[in-house]
Amino acid sequence: MSKVALVYDDVFLLHQPPELHPERPERLVWATEALGRYGLYERLLKVKVREATEEELELVHSRRHINFIKSLCEKGGGWIDADTYTSSHSYEVAKYAVGGIIEAAKLFLEGKISRVIALVRPPGHHAERNRAMGFCLFNNIAILARFLIKRGGKRRIAIIDWDVHHGNGTQSVFYKDAQVLYISLHQWGIFPGTGWYDEIGEGEGEGLNINFPLPAGVADDVYLEFYDVVIDIASQFNPEVVLVSSGYDAHEADPLADLLLSSSVYWLLTRRIIEEIKPYGLFILLEGGYNLRALAMSIVNTVKALLDEYVEQRNTITHERVRSRAFSLLNDAKRLFSQYWNM
Ligand SMILES: [Zn+2]
Repeated sequence: MSKVALVYDDVFLLHQPPELHPERPERLVWATEALGRYGLYERLLKVKVREATEEELELVHSRRHINFIKSLCEKGGGWIDADTYTSSHSYEVAKYAVGGIIEAAKLFLEGKISRVIALVRPPGHHAERNRAMGFCLFNNIAILARFLIKRGGKRRIAIIDWDVHHGNGTQSVFYKDAQVLYISLHQWGIFPGTGWYDEIGEGEGEGLNINFPLPAGVADDVYLEFYDVVIDIASQFNPEVVLVSSGYDAHEADPLADLLLSSSVYWLLTRRIIEEIKPYGLFILLEGGYNLRALAMSIVNTVKALLDEYVEQRNTITHERVRSRAFSLLNDAKRLFSQYWNM
């Protein structure tokens, strides 16, 4: 039996936009077809998905928020804001996404698997306790972290968020939490506008919320230098489980943002978690990523990393002007983080 599990079901295709929209079912069609073409799909253990219960959604979300999404979808769906849509099936699909991830978590807690890739829709990291936004209805990764703590007895969870957008929802859920380290790398100056490096956490969570805002134009070489610090902080936290908010919209071909990552770098980002942080469990959850070809290849490379297969690096290079701006930001951030972490 394979030790790497896949959370995917065709039911995730039923969350359909009312008009042209980047967060569309084709994203998962392309991703799963590419996994098949590269002979990877059949090597993954398929997790049987089910709908999450409302009680499971309440690990993170308020009853009011859950009822709002539910009743909106019962009426046929509609726009929640200028970006975020629902269709008549969206509530059900979102519950299948969360339920599938929780079933994977149960298999992990039973010792049957240690690595998971969840190709789910809708994405989650912008969703706050009381609010859907940024294409996200329920915060999949936050619910998973809470489940592993409350039902799985885990005490230290690290969430690494390499989606190009800041995961404001996840940050807000765990901002005062001592058991969850949240680290995000994201382009600065785009949606949702949060995620400056001085948002460091509060109370028991102070020092456990780490943001790396990046200027437009950062490519693999500079990104990997920031990632050194991500790996260093996460290793010091010594998490039992690492969860990744894996958006692929930092890719150079992505239409929604302006970072310049290659498809190959996602292999390296994943391998460094496995080899340097060495968590008992690694869960990679799909967030954004809107160029279909780039998304599919980046997911192929991520899955190869999970299956211990090698991918050659064809790293992209950052322009000198962007490089110097990025490093001055990195140094300022490290000065602040050094109050909490050895660096
Ligand atoms: Zn994103």
